[in-house]
Amino acid sequence: MKRRKAKVIKIGDICIGGEYPVAIQSMAKTKTSDVAQTVKQINSLERFGCEIIRVAVKDGQDARAVKKIKAQTRLPLVADIHFDYRLALQAIDNGADKIRLNPGNIFREKEIREVVRALKISGLPLRIGVNSGSLGGMESKRSALPDRLAESALDYIRKIERLSFYDLVISLKGSNVPDTVRAYRKIAAECDYPLHLGVTATGTPYAGALKSSIAIGSLLLEGIGDTIRISLTDQPAQEIKAAKIILESLSLREFGPRIISCPTCGRCEVDLTKVVRDLERKLSTIPDCRQAGTIPLKVAIMGCVVNGPGEAKEADLAVAFGKKEGLFFRKGKAIKKIPYSGCADYLLREIIEASVRRHT
Ligand code: SF4
Repeated sequence: MKRRKAKVIKIGDICIGGEYPVAIQSMAKTKTSDVAQTVKQINSLERFGCEIIRVAVKDGQDARAVKKIKAQTRLPLVADIHFDYRLALQAIDNGADKIRLNPGNIFREKEIREVVRALKISGLPLRIGVNSGSLGGMESKRSALPDRLAESALDYIRKIERLSFYDLVISLKGSNVPDTVRAYRKIAAECDYPLHLGVTATGTPYAGALKSSIAIGSLLLEGIGDTIRISLTDQPAQEIKAAKIILESLSLREFGPRIISCPTCGRCEVDLTKVVRDLERKLSTIPDCRQAGTIPLKVAIMGCVVNGPGEAKEADLAVAFGKKEGLFFRKGKAIKKIPYSGCADYLLREIIEASVRRHT
């Protein structure tokens, strides 16, 4: 797919926009002033594959904590600021890599000017983060929500460009999928700043991942979007998992072994769900496998021989089950029969060996 040409922006060590890969973001769910817990969560998210992390900065204690958190973490850190522009100044002084301002609650020219001045001195970018839940009063109430979201961002962009500042990232999050998609399409046509995609307040993992994947997936398919966050009412690691699946499904990124499995039907004679879950769990927890997880491999786990051999041809590794045993394929070639019990362990060993072979 052809990506929209966005300006390249650097956030800490990561570049977004241009031809850079679509980056995965999340937000810490801890109190930022609780440095130990926040550091623990950020470092854990990094291991899961998070590439940019945002923290809420709601008071001076949070702003001061940014310095200590930065000293113990590696991910580019975005300070999320609402209402009080002075917190942005403190977060910049304390080492934040990017500031997010909400046009709905920080809109006075003098305050924006102060923040932009500090960003210029530190060489940091700014995210203009418009959210449907906190739109200001500047947009025409008669306009449709996508227009109001885009209008709010464009008005802010113009204010900031008048200050000769252009290191901007834009997000326009609504909780409604069609409105969010339309808003992003509008802003994508009006500017060349990188876009951070997300749907806000999507709910629990199942509903949230689905809503996000419809909105974010639609936009990414059109070439729109440079970073993504899947907002879920759950542990942030789930957000990373969902983001990786979306990017892998669109062939935009590869993160490691990708399991494809059939839905099963009356022909299946084994508990295929158990095999798939076992393998997923082993892949995510065994240290050697995390290493192997950096190698993109397609692993097909099929319930019977109807579609098994066909899928096996497309996969690096595959198994097609019969009764109590499965036929194992490597690169589309049938290798041997393996017992159902211990199948997940067998596949795990094969994944690690395939990864090692590819490294050497
Ligand atoms: S691969 Fe076999 S078991 Fe799985 S859904 Fe297809 S026919 Fe059913």
